Amino acid sequence: MRDNDLHNGSFWFDSLDEPPGATPPASLPDRVDVAIIGAGYTGLWTAYYLKQQQPDLDIAVFEAMTAGFGASGRNGGWCMGLAWGIDGLLAVPRQQQAGIDLLNAMHDTVDEVGRICQAENIDCHYGKGGTLTVATLPFRVEAMRARVAHLHSLGYTDEDYTWLPEAESRHRIGSRWNFGAVYTTHCAAIHPARLVRGLARTVGGKGVRLFELTPVLDLEPGRVRTERGTVHADVVLRATEGYTESLPSQTRQVMPLYSMMVATEPLPEPVWEAIGLRRRETFGDGRRIVIYGQRTLDDRLAFGGRAGYYFGSERKPLIDPGDPMLDRVESNLREFFPALEGYAVTHRWGGLMGAPRHFRPCVSFDPDSGIGMAGGYVGEGVAASNLAGRMLSDLVLRQKTPLTRLAWVDDRARRWEPEPLRWMGAKMMQYAGDRADRAEFRNGRPSKFWDGLFSRVMG
Ligand SMILES: Cc1cc2nc3c(=O)[nH]c(=O)nc-3n(C[C@H](O)[C@H](O)[C@H](O)COP(=O)(O)OP(=O)(O)OC[C@H]3O[C@@H](n4cnc5c(N)ncnc54)[C@H](O)[C@@H]3O)c2cc1C
Repeated sequence: MRDNDLHNGSFWFDSLDEPPGATPPASLPDRVDVAIIGAGYTGLWTAYYLKQQQPDLDIAVFEAMTAGFGASGRNGGWCMGLAWGIDGLLAVPRQQQAGIDLLNAMHDTVDEVGRICQAENIDCHYGKGGTLTVATLPFRVEAMRARVAHLHSLGYTDEDYTWLPEAESRHRIGSRWNFGAVYTTHCAAIHPARLVRGLARTVGGKGVRLFELTPVLDLEPGRVRTERGTVHADVVLRATEGYTESLPSQTRQVMPLYSMMVATEPLPEPVWEAIGLRRRETFGDGRRIVIYGQRTLDDRLAFGGRAGYYFGSERKPLIDPGDPMLDRVESNLREFFPALEGYAVTHRWGGLMGAPRHFRPCVSFDPDSGIGMAGGYVGEGVAASNLAGRMLSDLVLRQKTPLTRLAWVDDRARRWEPEPLRWMGAKMMQYAGDRADRAEFRNGRPSKFWDGLFSRVMG
């Protein structure tokens, strides 16, 4: 388990070949071409694609801790071909094409991540087994089948999204409740920390300078101020996601929300006979307070659930494994898979994701100030950060490409409300979603009241 201050508490960091460390801080340059704040997927993918396109760019990435200390080194490892906001676009006829363009780009992104990992020798346990969304209540079947039908009406086929009837679904995943499932091929399971650490190594090999243990105090046009001095840069890019409030000029842009995870001990074959997931499909069940899981390459179950928000955007670098929110995640897991009885959970951790006010990703770059950003994935950023990184690098290099026409470009959200309104809204969202999920499980029918309230708070 944890053995140094740069450990983010996750099973993923624990299972790296080398314990997470940081390169000793080198002296800072006076000037670079591009300064990137944050060494998670967003910052590192952006650096990667900038270097691919313009190898002579002098790029520095500034990271407060170590590469992957944030969400990128702690997440559920769903490299998924969907992102927040796309279903909303697909539902409105005049925005449908924008939604289709984004969805296609996200599908391609799952393959792009696999392709780059192979090309760059990043062994992140990539396995494209798709994802299962299980109907855990009979009344959810209709809505799920309607979603598949809607996607088919837009040109997608059973190769992309298909409905698995109950018997087939039960064969694929041995969850306690299972009345059928939506299956999509557009998702890969990965080991998130191996991906982010591998990316850091890869961009380092291409000449990107990574300054770990170097918190940025704030950014301005033309420079970043760090705890270790100021660095001038033509281009300054923010890739700080759930930690964005650490920069005083960026407050209320992103709400830091927690997601919590647990991992079991490696499970023996008879348990896997009961649970299934033979292709390492990732899985969830479409409830409002989202749950998600994957079968790891070493045969554990890694399972998580979205959790909460702390007053004043408090950002805990580490989550105490005894946190009660983790009890809830563990009991959800055990409820979901009765076959786990008698098997231990060995790891419990959590991390920060970032939610902008409109709950959609945004990529933007202002050529006049030289300042840009990418993020706002609301807990679905493993693949989305790769697409965002490609988009941001095209914008920085002033290239007009199909990616720079996607709907995320400059789709800025208004700022979050000040406290205590923000805290009250977040609590209400969590409470209403939780009440709706529980009432539906208890009564076996839709919870109109709590669902209505949840939808209103979500806007
Ligand atoms: C528990 C959990 C489970 C998740 N599961 C999934 C999943 O299965 N699939 C999925 O698609 N998404 C998932 N997500 C979301 C996904 O992990 C994120 O969207 C993605 O990793 C965001 O990457 P990022 O690089 O933008 O941010 P981060 O990975 O958070 O990186 C930001 C980095 O910036 C650094 N930083 C912040 N402020 C400063 C500063 N002032 N100076 C210097 N450095 C700074 C931080 O230390 C951090 O390393 C999950 C998130 C969590 C927390």
